[in-house]
Amino acid sequence: MKIENKVVYEYIEEYIRKVQPKLDIELEAVRAQAEESHVPIIKPEVASLIHTLLAIKKPKRILEIGTAVGFSANLMCKYLVSDGEIITIERNADMYKKALENIKKLKTENKIKVIFGDAIEEMTKISGKFDVIFIDAAKGHYDTFYNDSLLLLAEEGMIIADNVLYKGLVACEKDEIVRRHKTIHKRMRSFIDMIMNNPEFESTLIPVGDGIIISKKIG
Ligand code: SAH
Ligand code: MG
Repeated sequence: MKIENKVVYEYIEEYIRKVQPKLDIELEAVRAQAEESHVPIIKPEVASLIHTLLAIKKPKRILEIGTAVGFSANLMCKYLVSDGEIITIERNADMYKKALENIKKLKTENKIKVIFGDAIEEMTKISGKFDVIFIDAAKGHYDTFYNDSLLLLAEEGMIIADNVLYKGLVACEKDEIVRRHKTIHKRMRSFIDMIMNNPEFESTLIPVGDGIIISKKIG
């Protein structure tokens, strides 16, 4: 099996991007700059999917694992209820700084709180429950992020995880994977098995962007 490096055909993505509504000017500037600096932010189709999910869910508290420059955090602000908040965790100092700059620029300081540190450690220190948890950080640790998320998720909450197919590689059989990707393949698959088979959740794996899982806790 050939790894295409993409989960979706390019011409399909191009078309979807054409029909999608444009982002606000300031947010589009953050997106464009991130793309230019090769920061791996969510793809436009994923952004659109998240917007729709949040429009349905209307969350009060969102936890994000992996802030990068704050693009997705600022995007998610749109459907936060008026006194809601986003807590987002970033371990890279340069990204953290850039995220704070962008949050200031977009005047979302009252909605987004960035924690500087490793999510594996920081998640255990956070209190309260979250309506939505968005996992978008180091792919080798999704199982850990997931187990910690279960403790922080509100009743009826929703977990969203990005990059779960990792350029299609995760869908390939084990013996087709080159050595340096074997650990990520194994760990991501174990995470996917865990989340998809949790009977307390209704979950779906969608081949959009780099692969996304939406997992909704059933009351
Ligand atoms: N959610 C962002 C993109 C995040 S890219 C967006 O779509 O706009 C992934 C980020 O996760 C990187 O900036 C990386 O530094 C950070 N990261 C990776 N592992 C982490 C960890 N264990 N704790 C905190 N941040 C982590
Ligand atoms: Mg991502």
